[in-house]
Formats: sequence, structure tokens, C-alpha cells
Amino acid sequence: MNDFLEYECKYFTVPELIHPQILAAIGETNSLIRLDPDCLRDLDTIREAWHKKHKSGVYCNRVKFGIDSRGLRPPNDPDGGFYSTHKQGTTFDLEPVNGKHKEFFLFLVELINSGKLKAFNTMEDRKFTPTWSHLAKMNHSKKLLIINK
Ligand SMILES: [Zn+2]
Repeated sequence: MNDFLEYECKYFTVPELIHPQILAAIGETNSLIRLDPDCLRDLDTIREAWHKKHKSGVYCNRVKFGIDSRGLRPPNDPDGGFYSTHKQGTTFDLEPVNGKHKEFFLFLVELINSGKLKAFNTMEDRKFTPTWSHLAKMNHSKKLLIINK
């Protein structure tokens, strides 16, 4: 437990949120302070709301399956765009454990549009990411911006 952190996720472990290369290079505490606390609050809000409705969880990284770039990514990560906001601690890819990908995407859209999330205001168009939902906090004034890269 890092008592000086503003927020730590209740439902997502450190390896689920941070690429193993970053953890190995700078350690857990230095990695955790790079994550946006309002995004972390949103991740827990999403997990709680989805679990309440479906009695099923939400994945971010699944390191044992080689899925390790869904949270904070290293600068040289080959997955995704070179300028991806995944490298800024403000962007996470989520996947519903029960495999209801389309419903999960629409669920996230509704959470954002109804004002239940504090930080996430950007999603990637589902047709480019059919098996995960990309959520980001970005600098714009729209409630929800759907991007395609
Ligand atoms: Zn993403």
C-alpha cells in the first residue's frame, strides 16, 4: 500500500494497469504515480457498475497471456500507435470477462454520457477495436469523442 498516492484501484492490480517493462525498470511506486487518479477512479466505477449488472468482471492487462499493453505502455512499445496516449497514464483498454463486447462498449458510452465517469471522455471507434474498449482522458470539451486512431 502506498499511502501517499491519491488513489489506488480496488479492482485492478498493478500488473493489470502497468506494462511489466516499466515495472521492472522503475518499480511499482514510480509506475503508479504516473497514472491519472481520476482515470483510476473511473476504472473502479466501471468495474463496479458492470459487475452489479452482470455479476462478471472486467479485464485490463492479462500478462500471463501476453496481453500487457492495455494500460501504461513503455515509450518503445510495439503495440498501438507511436504517439498513443497509453504512454501517458490516461488511457486503458478494457474487456468484459463475459465476452459481451458490444454491450460493454455501449455500457461505457452510457456511463460517460450520463456523467458517471470523472475523466474518460474519449473512446476508439468499436469497428477498429471489436474485442476491447479503448478509454482515454483527452484535452477536448466534448462529453464523449469517438476517435479512429
Ligand atoms: Zn487503447
